[in-house]
Amino acid sequence: MTLNTDWAVRWIKGSAAVVSEHRVELITLDREIGDGDHGENLDRGFSAVLLKLDDLPTDATPGDALKMVATTLISTVGGAAGPLYGTAYLKAAGAIAGQAELDGAAVVALLTAARDGVVLRGKAAPGDKTMVDAWSPAVDAAAEALAAGLDEAAILDAAATAAEAGARATEPLVARKGRASYLGERAIGHRDPGAQSSALLLRVAADAAAGA
Ligand code: ADP
Ligand code: MG
Repeated sequence: MTLNTDWAVRWIKGSAAVVSEHRVELITLDREIGDGDHGENLDRGFSAVLLKLDDLPTDATPGDALKMVATTLISTVGGAAGPLYGTAYLKAAGAIAGQAELDGAAVVALLTAARDGVVLRGKAAPGDKTMVDAWSPAVDAAAEALAAGLDEAAILDAAATAAEAGARATEPLVARKGRASYLGERAIGHRDPGAQSSALLLRVAADAAAGA
């Protein structure tokens, strides 16, 4: 399936749906090691994004759509996740600016720019128990899938699978960034909410590419 603006719109609509479906789960994860607002924050943000989809011009590129997501999340989400996701989508949009269709290299560039945006903004490294622990393995897996000659949908599937494993792998970690870092060893045994939401969003990107 071609990764064009229809794909980006399916990804965005699917993201709003998945964040709404997993709202309570994300709230619960954030209640365990944070302040319990992550699901609420993201649901509010993606509800606002959904409304803005109607304003996208008919000739919008995938990058234009992701840029709209970025600016909307930045103005509606707040907390740590708003600026982090906002920067991720903004950098991702920049990496594919002007392209009407994304090939495998563009998908890897999009994911890499998103991860780099989160790192630029939050200064977390892999293993710090943040959303970087989902994004970083996703980027690595996507680059490997591209090098192995897989198509765009398979690249996104590899990224989502790696992000899911990365989110699970935050459970035994002590947090070194964000609110969870105040808990020290008490964060052990809990999955990072931002890593979990990142894995959910990447799975939706892959599903949208597979036409699911
Ligand atoms: P807040 O912590 O302000 O309540 P959220 O609950 O919406 O914001 O988001 C928390 C998530 O943000 C964490 O689970 C983590 O994944 C992510 N996060 C927090 N700080 C950082 C950081 N410095 N770098 C990357 N991700 C971070
Ligand atoms: Mg929170």
